[in-house]
Amino acid sequence: MKPRDRLRIAMQKSGRLTEPALDLLNRCGLTFRQSRDKLFCFGEGEPVDLLLVRDDDIPGLIAQGVCDLGIVGRNVLNEFRGVVGDGAATLTEWRPLGFGRCRLSIAVPQDMDYSQPQDLSGLRIATSYPGLLNQWLKEKNVDAAVVTLAGSVEIAPKLGTAEVICDLVQSGGTLIANQLRETDVLLQSEAVLAGPDALPSDERGDMIELLLKRLDGVIQVRE
Ligand code: ATP
Ligand code: ZN
Repeated sequence: MKPRDRLRIAMQKSGRLTEPALDLLNRCGLTFRQSRDKLFCFGEGEPVDLLLVRDDDIPGLIAQGVCDLGIVGRNVLNEFRGVVGDGAATLTEWRPLGFGRCRLSIAVPQDMDYSQPQDLSGLRIATSYPGLLNQWLKEKNVDAAVVTLAGSVEIAPKLGTAEVICDLVQSGGTLIANQLRETDVLLQSEAVLAGPDALPSDERGDMIELLLKRLDGVIQVRE
């Protein structure tokens, strides 16, 4: 791939992480031209541009070198790292960013007897995070069937596609609305700055170091 002289950051085009991510970058002194509903945002001051995409595509774009950094949930980053495995380009969590907090949890029907992970043996678990769920099931030595769904995981027990779910939880309101009860937390998540293991050895590396410094200042002020 042709080397780029401008840094490119991938972030969510439209969703929970969009506003806080943009706000954080603004506080780091970065401003961008072009409306947010466009795919590309051109950095006005510093040589830093944005690519606005679906959050699920962000780790892949960094791994392919299309983007240098990304702002994405730890849940999405770790699912990618687990699924892609050792052979592929490795990604690092450079900084936790303190917004988009949620957890990836097991939830069971409120009337189901449940006291430990082994109680899931032989059941079907619906999730959008098959990599993280399979890893947890293996750790707990539980033999359950993983049903992968792209969305609306919380209604799977009602539909009969699975008995149990493994989904993102923030307040727990969605679970209660679907008569589900949270039992185990697999991952505590928040938005993170993700990038390749090693900094690029050109101007982009210097720009990343500068950005990290500013980020640390902004995050410290906010805490
Ligand atoms: P996209 O169109 O980009 O694929 P999405 O529907 O996958 O959007 P959002 O629902 O906007 O994504 O969530 C983005 C991220 O926000 C999640 O990956 C997660 O890290 C975080 N998040 C925080 N709270 C929640 C929650 N209650 N439900 C889902 N995600 C949450
Ligand atoms: Zn998504």
